[in-house]
Amino acid sequence: TVGCVAVDGNGNLAAATSTGGLVNKMIGRIGDTPIVGAGTYANYLCAISATGKGEAIIRATVGRDVAALMEYKGLSLKDAADCVVENSPKGTTGLVAVSVTGEVVMAFNTSGMFRACAKEDGTSEIAIWDSVENGDL
Ligand code: ASP
Repeated sequence: TVGCVAVDGNGNLAAATSTGGLVNKMIGRIGDTPIVGAGTYANYLCAISATGKGEAIIRATVGRDVAALMEYKGLSLKDAADCVVENSPKGTTGLVAVSVTGEVVMAFNTSGMFRACAKEDGTSEIAIWDSVENGDL
């Protein structure tokens, strides 16, 4: 999966996700990536792009659940994302997310997930991690 989330200076949020799907997938299978609310979601609070086992991500409506926890329960993006990822079957789910305030969260319950973040500091610096830690910036 290649997933991207972004927020601009006016608070506009966007999420995009692309994937080739899973190896040996069934013909006609539709994964989580193109399903808004599962692998990809953005509203006025946050943008989320998920990766992992699509069936689990669809069942959990990962993207929408993160946004709903923020919207209805007042959780921060980190708390909402951690809650959804921790409650997903182990080894199935990872996500990158950004909030309207610019909070960045990259959470996963897999053994690792390559991830990067470009910050608004004019340097275009990009960092890449692949660790077993559930990491945030
Ligand atoms: N989530 C994708 C799918 O299930 C697989 C991936 O992470 O690339 O189709």
